[in-house]
Amino acid sequence: MESGFLQTVEERESLLLAPYAMHSCDSAGRRHVETEHLYRGPFQRDRDRVLHSSAYRRLSGKMQVFTGDKGDYHRTRLTHTQEVASIARTIGRSLRLNEDLVEALALFHDIGHPPFGHAGEDALDECLSDVGGFSHNRYGLTIAEELETRHQPIPGLNLTYEVLEGQKSRVDKEADNRRPLLEAQVVDAADSITYDAHDTDDAIKLEFVTLGELRRELIMIQWCFEELGSRADSLDSDSLRRAVVHTLIDFQVNNVLMESGKLVSQSGWQSSTEARDGGVIIEPLGELADAKQQLESFLYERVYRHSELIATRDRAQAQIKDLYTVLVDDPSKMPDRFIQRCDIHGVERSVGDYIAGMTDRFFEKQHAIQCS
Ligand code: MG
Repeated sequence: MESGFLQTVEERESLLLAPYAMHSCDSAGRRHVETEHLYRGPFQRDRDRVLHSSAYRRLSGKMQVFTGDKGDYHRTRLTHTQEVASIARTIGRSLRLNEDLVEALALFHDIGHPPFGHAGEDALDECLSDVGGFSHNRYGLTIAEELETRHQPIPGLNLTYEVLEGQKSRVDKEADNRRPLLEAQVVDAADSITYDAHDTDDAIKLEFVTLGELRRELIMIQWCFEELGSRADSLDSDSLRRAVVHTLIDFQVNNVLMESGKLVSQSGWQSSTEARDGGVIIEPLGELADAKQQLESFLYERVYRHSELIATRDRAQAQIKDLYTVLVDDPSKMPDRFIQRCDIHGVERSVGDYIAGMTDRFFEKQHAIQCS
């Protein structure tokens, strides 16, 4: 195919990216060597592989904080992921980092979440305690390297070393005694900015808390009102909630760009390796970090530990343990490919991997069928 008129990924990145960004041409590549694509760079291909994976689509049926029976307004694990990707790209672009890598890491970051969010994770961790426990971050790697199938005979998604390593850094932040790539740090920061903002939004909309309470108790919300000024008085309650949440995101992104961004841009780093060894962390800093801590403690006490959510959590955990026990006793009730995994990975791990891949709804159906 005639392609000389197309700008190469290398040309594009050399024009746009900072020297400390992870340039595609410096990628360590993939475990199974593949031919380079004509016009899509390696991280762009990774992003597309994640986007087209069934595990990614299933995020739409996995809860973030609130289950589906609370209506349709609140975030699912999928919309959370999309919001993280959007905020991470904003930060990544402003810092002249590799946006394709940022987006690939962001779309991938929660792909290993089991049904029922952290409640599901804790239950599986208990079930699997004799064989190493369960972590959604580690399970994300199992999905990418073993469970997902593409049209090629290569196992898993065959993602680049950089995306897999970025996910590994979520399992163990101190792995190899090196900081993650700046792109991975951006995704981590964006994840926390995103859930602090949308959990606040959902909690108000679903009437777990009121905006008035948040304003009285939290410095961060008071800053948002100061920023909105007299405009706040003219807004109805829905518009005011949206304006506050919007400002909450802006505040945090601005802080990351102004504080960490300044250090990064003044660093003089000439490569992504120098940046990793440079010791700067991209995250909210200073008084904003304290204000975030205050907001997160509030959300923990008043929302995540709310009696309604605790009841959902208890029910989900009991059901996960039920289904786990039934399937460990009789693994033949699982689909063939998970039965086959029992010989290699053991019955417990294979059952855990099967359950972890389920959406909330599919899990409930399986529980009703297998545990009745
Ligand atoms: Mg997340």
